[in-house]
Amino acid sequence: MSRVYADANAIRGKAWYEYNKFRIEWSSPDRYEIVRRLGGGKYSEVFEGVDTVNSERCVIKVLKPVAGHKIKREIKVLRNLAGAPNVIALLDVVRDPSRQYHSLVTEYVENAEWSGLYTRLTDADVRHYTFQLLTALDFVHSHGIIHRDVKPANVMIDHQRHQLRLIDWGLAEFYHPGVEYHVRVGSRHYKPPELLVGYKRYDYSLDLWSTGCMVAAMIFRKQHFFRGSDNDDQLLKIMRVLGTAKFDAYLKSYGIPFESDIEDLLGTYPPRPWSRFVTPENEHLASGDALDFVDRLLRFDPRERLTAKDALAHAYFGTVRTEGSKPEGLSDSGFASM
Ligand code: AMP
Repeated sequence: MSRVYADANAIRGKAWYEYNKFRIEWSSPDRYEIVRRLGGGKYSEVFEGVDTVNSERCVIKVLKPVAGHKIKREIKVLRNLAGAPNVIALLDVVRDPSRQYHSLVTEYVENAEWSGLYTRLTDADVRHYTFQLLTALDFVHSHGIIHRDVKPANVMIDHQRHQLRLIDWGLAEFYHPGVEYHVRVGSRHYKPPELLVGYKRYDYSLDLWSTGCMVAAMIFRKQHFFRGSDNDDQLLKIMRVLGTAKFDAYLKSYGIPFESDIEDLLGTYPPRPWSRFVTPENEHLASGDALDFVDRLLRFDPRERLTAKDALAHAYFGTVRTEGSKPEGLSDSGFASM
């Protein structure tokens, strides 16, 4: 059971978390015009659009005909989180007259692509964006919701404004203690060990592993820190850094059966100290506080990971918390207050 916010849904009651039971009032799509395609995936096609009533830019996420309950879940989560810090705002939900296409209209973010961004971030930037992400997660978790797909592609960063928004709530789920959830969620490079070994009683701490992967990517200047070619290889990449002794202890303490026919996965690897990843190119980002911070997020045992709230209190953010003005060394101008 989660160490924090375990009863967040119970105290809010069924109207908060029973997403199947609420009725959605759909608007007509006439108000919105598509400008260009931004991307797409298994569940949706995403477009930049314009709201013809106020001429504001927006994002139109056209959902593929997936199970109705999934659409309801995403909308309910976004409605519940209206006004949450650094969470993408849901502006409207529309359905075409044939009732075939359902779309979510959200605010638009002038996103800087991760592949071009992660090499440009200063130490102050990394601390700032990580703090913003954790602020979102602590709020979301305290309201009983796990995002389940935290990764750079779902963290929109407007680097001019120094603004961050967590997007794509299609996999988000309400947390209830003791419930077994699907382990086929998340994105490989950001999947925590519990998903990779098939442990179903996970909780909010799932998002903290993914956040740890993003922090490691930023401070060590790698596009993705653990870069497995499939789920087994992903676990192997993790074991080669954290060491097999800790992996074995984790499995044992939860009684997780783990068998593999992959020889490498059964090998033994010593833990690698985080300092081994420090190079002349990243040493200005990989301070002692940064290494300690990443070490406390990337733990096999979810109970050992910092919670979002504890993470926000870590010494790594000492300079960020004395907020108000622009933190020293933050790149670019136009810093928007937090
Ligand atoms: P997705 O399928 O949700 O990963 O979205 C596809 C792409 O659309 C993302 O990788 C982003 O580049 C872009 N995108 C999604 N949501 C937004 C948003 N609110 N603002 C700007 N770009 C977005």
